[in-house]
Amino acid sequence: MQVVNSKQELKKALKSYRSEGKSIGLVPTMGALHQGHISLINRCRAENEVVVASIFVNPTQFDNPEDLKKYPRTLESDCELLEPAGCDIVFAPSADEMYPTLPKLSIDFGNLEHVMEGKYRDGHFNGVGIVVSKLFHLVNPDRAYFGQKDLQQVAVLRRLVNDLSFDLELIACPTLRESDGLAMSSRNTRLSAEARKIAPQLHAALQKAKDLLIQGKTAAETQKEINSFFEAIPEFRPEYFEIADFDDLEPIKKMNTEGKTAICTAAYLDGVRLIDNIVF
Ligand code: AMP
Repeated sequence: MQVVNSKQELKKALKSYRSEGKSIGLVPTMGALHQGHISLINRCRAENEVVVASIFVNPTQFDNPEDLKKYPRTLESDCELLEPAGCDIVFAPSADEMYPTLPKLSIDFGNLEHVMEGKYRDGHFNGVGIVVSKLFHLVNPDRAYFGQKDLQQVAVLRRLVNDLSFDLELIACPTLRESDGLAMSSRNTRLSAEARKIAPQLHAALQKAKDLLIQGKTAAETQKEINSFFEAIPEFRPEYFEIADFDDLEPIKKMNTEGKTAICTAAYLDGVRLIDNIVF
């Protein structure tokens, strides 16, 4: 496994594979890797001849400087997970390497900017769109892998690939969870032992809402029960809990019977912002 820090080295590392006509898969990450990330690497390994992982804590997608500062950076242990998983190239650039000049371009993702993560994290998807576009141009992969854990990010990136005709296949992979239901996340390590015990209730709330909708409750009735659910756990400070259409992420009044329904939530616990979703 090669670890490269510059665009030039990356280009060089990819050149021989490219000349041999090998298929290339990309898994973009911000590091602090866990088994959820590794499940993406495994899928990428199974479907491509060359596996590239990027590790870059992208400053332009953080609207909160404290959050950016606190984001764990663990390149060495990340590489210890990537190598046995069969990763070929790790691209771990510095912020200056990725942004010799700060981008002046901005990307408008339409309605996706105004709901859920878009509503609460100003400029987040613009930052994601730009950094992922850069990575797509630098690596030029045949396939790129993203987690459904960040459902809205997948929707935004589908729009990016479609509207800008990126010549690649975008593949969404299922969310890996701890045995108690908590979605694996780099942020979980920041939870106190006490908060960690409560954290799976976020997934429990999603399950409860799913059950209620399947029983025929409206979104409004479901929201009301979920509000009471969170009131009983004051450690949580929910930011949003949305029942939405899976395709456009717009709010819906009842469970979709034709297409899929998505329930997405973000909540603070112990000062850590957790997100999760369920699709059915
Ligand atoms: P991040 O490092 O948080 O930017 O995540 C990098 C990629 O891993 C994103 O596509 C995430 O959606 C995905 N990912 C994060 N957590 C999980 C998880 N628990 N299961 C599956 N994929 C995940």
